[in-house]
Amino acid sequence: MQEYLQQLNEAQRAPVLQKDGAMIVIAGAGSGKTRVLTYRIAYLMSQGVDPFNILSLTFTNKAAREMKGRISQIVGSSEAKNLWMGTFHSVFAKILRFEGHRLGYPSNFTIYDTQDSHSVIRAVIKEMQLDKDVYKYKQVYSRISSYKNSLITVKAYFNNAELMEADAMAKMPRLGDIYNNYVERCFKAGAMDFDDLLLKTNELLTRFPEVLMHYQNRFRYILVDEYQDTNHSQYLIVKALSDRFQNICVVGDDAQSIYAFRGANINNILNFQKDYDDVKMYRLEQNYRSTKNIVNAANSIIEKNKTRLEKIVWTANDEGNKIKVNRTMTDGDEGRFVASSIFETAMNNQLNHNNFAVLYRTNAQSRAIEDALRKRDIPYRIYGGLSFYQRKEIKDVIAYLRLILNPKDEEALKRVINYPARGIGQTTMERITVAANHYNRSIFEVMQNLDKINLKINKGTQGKLEDFVTMIQSFQIFNKNQDAFQVAEHVAKKTGLLQELKKDGTPEGIARIENIEELLNGMRDFVEEQKELADTTGSLAEFLEDVALATDLDNEKGDDDKVALMTVHLAKGLEFPYVYIVGMEEDLFPSGMNMNSRAELEEERRLFYVALTRAEKQAFLTYTQSRYRWGKLIDAEPSRFIEEIDESFLEYLTPKTENRFKTLIDADIFDEVDKSKLRLNKPKAGTPPSKGPSEAQLRKLRRLKPVSSDTNKNFDPKAANLDIGTMVEHVRFGKGKILSIEGKGADTKAEIQFENGGLKKLLLRFAKLEVL
Ligand code: ATP
Ligand code: MG
Repeated sequence: MQEYLQQLNEAQRAPVLQKDGAMIVIAGAGSGKTRVLTYRIAYLMSQGVDPFNILSLTFTNKAAREMKGRISQIVGSSEAKNLWMGTFHSVFAKILRFEGHRLGYPSNFTIYDTQDSHSVIRAVIKEMQLDKDVYKYKQVYSRISSYKNSLITVKAYFNNAELMEADAMAKMPRLGDIYNNYVERCFKAGAMDFDDLLLKTNELLTRFPEVLMHYQNRFRYILVDEYQDTNHSQYLIVKALSDRFQNICVVGDDAQSIYAFRGANINNILNFQKDYDDVKMYRLEQNYRSTKNIVNAANSIIEKNKTRLEKIVWTANDEGNKIKVNRTMTDGDEGRFVASSIFETAMNNQLNHNNFAVLYRTNAQSRAIEDALRKRDIPYRIYGGLSFYQRKEIKDVIAYLRLILNPKDEEALKRVINYPARGIGQTTMERITVAANHYNRSIFEVMQNLDKINLKINKGTQGKLEDFVTMIQSFQIFNKNQDAFQVAEHVAKKTGLLQELKKDGTPEGIARIENIEELLNGMRDFVEEQKELADTTGSLAEFLEDVALATDLDNEKGDDDKVALMTVHLAKGLEFPYVYIVGMEEDLFPSGMNMNSRAELEEERRLFYVALTRAEKQAFLTYTQSRYRWGKLIDAEPSRFIEEIDESFLEYLTPKTENRFKTLIDADIFDEVDKSKLRLNKPKAGTPPSKGPSEAQLRKLRRLKPVSSDTNKNFDPKAANLDIGTMVEHVRFGKGKILSIEGKGADTKAEIQFENGGLKKLLLRFAKLEVL
């Protein structure tokens, strides 16, 4: 046996050595799923499979790079260069560069990031003269996004009365028209948004059989990590590509499915066996990551979920310390506790800071932790906040670079046409935009033909516009035989961006210059790495694609000696010796927005399972008695998840406090409600994720008092003034009308038709309804 295969246990070796066919590896956290994929690729290559024929899809590009690095060590780096590895978005963006012309896209199409998409939607809403308080752009975008991920095109939307009605009920009857305008606008700008990368790939593979055949032949071996979190659009792509050879290996853990809110569909994992002929199912049971205490505690948590596949996870690792639970008075104290604990642990054990991670449920929680770490001079890095590439000065440079490749890119053009200031005003741009719409051309094309159309723009301004066009064209020529770094350096100088910032002279201005320098350094590294690892030239086009799809996890430098701060969602697949899970409070973790059904609560529990299983040596759970939320100090209750852990794995550093919502925790409150929910509320394909509570609802939520068990037993709907026809308001579902009441006392249930379209059956003692 080759030496590297001995670095696997027998259960791991089995899927690695099965060269052909469809297989699924379902296994708990830390059991080596990602390792199996990595070694499987190495093995395939050792069996003569051309790396050119292997496609591997990962959750982050960083994970792909690490896998590639490991494979290079085993089989040699020149062999590994031709492997296709990356996220769904990055891999299919590449394919669309080759094939997008069939759908009318230029090969140098721009990838719009979320900010760009938001900006286009705002412009569309404004041009349609719709009320921006009714048509909130973020909400509109998230609906459009969920349609795209369910493959509901504009045409399909207008053929679907139900969807149109749902949007009308949500007071957005023009949503379809916005969708249509948004799509047209992006198309005209030669741009795809993130969801298009999947949607258009699907379109390509269904409309052009020869293209499908080409990529089926090319990707004879397909591997997918974190399969539990694929959405419908991704699922269909994998299915189509692997249909011919059926050499597909997916790995995942249903217990770690945490992206349902973004359309991930756990059925993809559950139905895998039906999708392919002769599927082999493998299970891994031994965890190599964590101590016995952590593994067993995590098992005791996930057992509480009813919807799950039975799995065994055990470890031969040491018993380890118990999980430490700590309570503080405020979130400030919580931050200080974490900081001093990290300080001491690092000191006592002579550890680098990158052995530590602080995980939280929501980004807003990072501030208190940051403050405390800063006071202690502990270096840290936040992931998932405003990423480097979202900073203004960086976006400015990138906008110029985008224009070089695709001058039709409207968002980029609007950003820099008058920055640095060149005396091209708003009115001029509006005139040009109107002309562009009229001639159905891009703004840049109109600017190139100003002498042919009469736009009432004075000679001086016209000259400035022409200068801008000439400048971009000169960059395009420069770009022809220079690499990404050289082009960017040239652009930063010639556009006057750097001079502008130097003139500024403020500390912010200086910080901006430094950031641009950092960008240039990064580009230089990129060019070198690209030549080294991927055998390409490091062109501007390659760089921009990398940037458009970069998450800041991707930019992590492994040698950074910093504490990692991130949300639990981002931590999936990662591991750290010491993990602090902060904000272990009811309404926060589990999130108050995700406690209305068993399904939602179970997703929160899976999220907690993910958090806990990131820890190798030691886990800490911290909570506070009061916390600032929504600008107010509120009383907090310890999370039910702490109590759900078998007590023998816990060590309380501070006296244990009871959760006053105990009735809610112990009672199987969702059982009956859920059955009706399953029937009534089964989400239809394309139903957008329900929106979060409004400000008013949140205010109400804050006022809620714990329910005492006595009132529960004697619950009387009449005394609460509830009857058929009563109009009520629910903290989450909004206003609704009671259609029927059934059951008695504590079991009384009401069927309520909510205005937002939902019909729900709720157990009244928990529903917290307000009579209107
Ligand atoms: P997750 O569900 O969190 O994504 P996973 O199942 O993908 O976890 P890996 O990340 O592949 O698990 O492995 C967890 C850790 O255990 C890694 O550090 C890995 O290198 C190590 N490991 C896995 N298998 C073995 C083995 N056979 N021998 C030694 N170490 C192993
Ligand atoms: Mg993994």
